[in-house]
Amino acid sequence: MKPMIVVLALAMWVAVPAQAAPEQAQATLAYPLESATVKAPFGPRQHPTLKREVLHHGVDFSAAEGDQVLASSAGKVIYAGWYGDYGHVVILDHGHGLTTMYAHLQTALVAVGTTVEAHQAIALAGNTGMSTGPHLHFELRRDGKPIDPAPFFAGRASHG
Ligand SMILES: [Zn+2]
Repeated sequence: MKPMIVVLALAMWVAVPAQAAPEQAQATLAYPLESATVKAPFGPRQHPTLKREVLHHGVDFSAAEGDQVLASSAGKVIYAGWYGDYGHVVILDHGHGLTTMYAHLQTALVAVGTTVEAHQAIALAGNTGMSTGPHLHFELRRDGKPIDPAPFFAGRASHG
């Protein structure tokens, strides 16, 4: 049964504390694009539009308008729509206080309440909200607080 596999995968993910040593970190998030190139990591940075240092709450991936955005893990769509500076977004709830957000989208392909599988196409990448060009802003939140998703991804992304 698929639901059992989903529960086990989430249990493994949740079992990894934020301060876990790198060798203990279980990579359980899939990259949200077929070809994942990191444009800007999580952390403090000079904001391209605001021209001052702000904490970047997610990871920016290079994307072209219309690229398929994939669910990083199985979950349920809890928001699909406009979200201020983030433009069009999709937010997935993975249970255990964990959510992922996909921002600056051209359009969502899923509606609130839909259950999605990992790797399922949930949106098309775009350039909506406060954005200086097409890209995907990806956020992982634990209990509503953004955390760096990098240690959770399976495999390596290229950086460019
Ligand atoms: Zn971003």
